[in-house]
Parts: sequence; C-alpha cells; structure tokens
Amino acid sequence: MSLLKPVNAIKIEPLSCLRIEHVSNECSKCIDLCPTEAIGLSTSKRISLDSTKCIGCMSCIGVCPSGALIYPDFDPSVFVLQTGIKKDITLSCKNNHACLSIFNSEHFISLGLRHNSVSCDISICDECNMNPGAQTEKIITEHIDEANRFLQAAGKPSIAISKEQNKLSRREALFSFVKDVNTLRNEESFDEIFDTKETLPKSRVVLQNSLKLAIEELRESPIKEKFSFIAHKKIDFVSCDNCGDCIQFCPTKALLYSSDKTKILFQPLRCIACGICDDVCKPKAISSDNELDLVTLAFNRAELLIEHHFAVCSECRVSFPQKGNETVCKRCEDFVQNHSDMFALARDI
Ligand code: SF4
Ligand code: SF4
Ligand code: SF4
Repeated sequence: MSLLKPVNAIKIEPLSCLRIEHVSNECSKCIDLCPTEAIGLSTSKRISLDSTKCIGCMSCIGVCPSGALIYPDFDPSVFVLQTGIKKDITLSCKNNHACLSIFNSEHFISLGLRHNSVSCDISICDECNMNPGAQTEKIITEHIDEANRFLQAAGKPSIAISKEQNKLSRREALFSFVKDVNTLRNEESFDEIFDTKETLPKSRVVLQNSLKLAIEELRESPIKEKFSFIAHKKIDFVSCDNCGDCIQFCPTKALLYSSDKTKILFQPLRCIACGICDDVCKPKAISSDNELDLVTLAFNRAELLIEHHFAVCSECRVSFPQKGNETVCKRCEDFVQNHSDMFALARDI
C-alpha cells in the first residue's frame, strides 16, 4: 500500500458548502489556510480542489464549519465515538489516526468531555512534510486551545499537548496509521447516530452526544465566552420586521418559527456561527451574545428569541408586527415618507 494514499483523497461535498446556501456568503476558511493553494473557487464561484497540489495535511477539513470537506478513509467524528468513554487517551498520528489537523475544536471538546484525560502528541510535526511553515501545527494548537477554553469553563480537565519525541520513525508511523485506521474502520459502526437527512455537521452531533454523557460532571452556570464554531443569537424586538429571511437561509435550521409564525425560536446546539442570518437581516435586528447553557446544548432545547403581536394596518389592511400603539405598518409609513413631495404636490393641485 502506498504511503501516500492519504494524500489527494480529500473530497468536497459541494452542497454542504456554506457558499452554496447563500450567494452573499463569503466563507473562505479552507482557501485561506491551504498552504499550497490547492483549494480555490471555480468560475461558477464554487469551491474546487486541485488534487495535484494537495499535500493531504487535512487542515481544511478541520476548519470547515459545515463539514463540506471529508477524507473518506478517516472520519474524525466516528473516531471520537470509537474512543469510548472514561479512558486516559493519547492522540497521535503515529499510532491511531490521520494528522491531528483533521479534528476541529468540537472534536477535541468531545474527547475532553468523554475521557478522564486526553493528551495530543505533536512530536513529529517539526519533521512532517504536511506541516509547511509550521502552519498545520498552528491550526492543531489553535483548535486544542479553543477546546480547552470550553472545557475549562465547563469544569472539565484541559487537553495536554506533548512535543516529546518517541522512537517511531516517520515511515513506521505512516504504516501504523494506515493499519490502525483500517482496524478502527472494521471495529464498530456508529451510522445510526448520524441521520442522513440531518443538516448538522457530524462533529456537532458528536458534541451533543458527549455533552449528554458528561452532563452530571459539568458546571451548571452558563459559559460566557466567544467561540468560533457556535453562536448564541438574539433578536432586537423593535428592529425585527418578522420577514423570516434569517429562518429561510439558516443552513442548519437553528432558527425556526412557531406554528402561527408569531414567535422566532432558536436552537443553540444547531448554530454553526456561519453569520448568514446576520448577512440577510436587512434591519440588522439579529446579533450574538456570548452565553452558552450546557444543558440547553446537550438536550437541543429551543429558546424563544422574540414574540410579535400583530395588528391590521389601517392603510393597506395587511397584518403587521406591532411594536407599540402604531396603526400603520412600516411599509405604508415608509411609502408616505418617501413620497411626501408627491402627496404635497397632489394636495396643491
Ligand atoms: S470552509 Fe467549508 S463552508 Fe467554507 S468555503 Fe470551504 S468548503 Fe465551503
Ligand atoms: S443561526 Fe445564524 S449563525 Fe447560526 S447557523 Fe443559523 S444562520 Fe448561521
Ligand atoms: S431577525 Fe431580521 S431576518 Fe430575522 S425575521 Fe427579524 S427582520 Fe427578518
């Protein structure tokens, strides 16, 4: 088996890319970090991969917020489940999986929630040809640092990083990687956990599973920090005109209407902080705060963001979200303001 098999095997699932969801979305995380410019935009502005340039560092997989990039021979979300629970584990590309850059912050958090202790061995990063300019190592440590901020705030031990050398050579390490990946793949299937109709990235499904397992050990107070992979949304009552655009374009269905469309609900577990709702909201009524409730996340509870009271506009007779005692809808009010000159002229005539 070729030692280079893991290289050139990264696949793009175009329909999962955030740029497909909304024309104005400009996510370019994978493009920005690719050290060899193997990822770019096609003429139709879709993400494309030039496999002749790809060195297989897998960093793009770890940074994609929507799980649009995959490596078919190793699924980091399945791997996290396969590690089991309550162990002292060491992650190393030398003995049990692909480059650590394939794991995103959520995978590391999930490992920290599931196990007694987690250590990450990055001792061969310095000599690895998939770490040009130490960029891949930087991405790995950024993900672990972000996971540790979450774990510390949740009351769980941090993940350790080890740079100590051991005796395994690079060649032995790669053979070991291929062998152990095949063993893991044959061991157990977790397909039933991942609903094929689910729009959530698999890493978020695993995070929910891990939060539930650890729920009794976690701090009860909410986490008040900002993370790159999740956002807690809020909507300003006065500015929101209940147009529903944020709900329509949210790629993970984190935002939803109540059945009578008077309330907008939010499921924090489903938010991937893509920012599409912020982009599409014309009155800029939607924003984020930095507060995450772990029980809400673990049980995918929905929160009420806003509740509108409707009245019938005295001008156009269409119902509108009433903010106070006004009797005319915003559209009619704007129309009158924008055409005041014309009305004045008509009166004069
Ligand atoms: S990181 Fe993911 S969502 Fe963003 S452009 Fe790349 S493939 Fe698309
Ligand atoms: S709520 Fe907004 S930021 Fe969160 S996933 Fe939906 S569109 Fe993206
Ligand atoms: S928050 Fe913005 S996009 Fe969402 S319903 Fe209100 S006005 Fe529309």
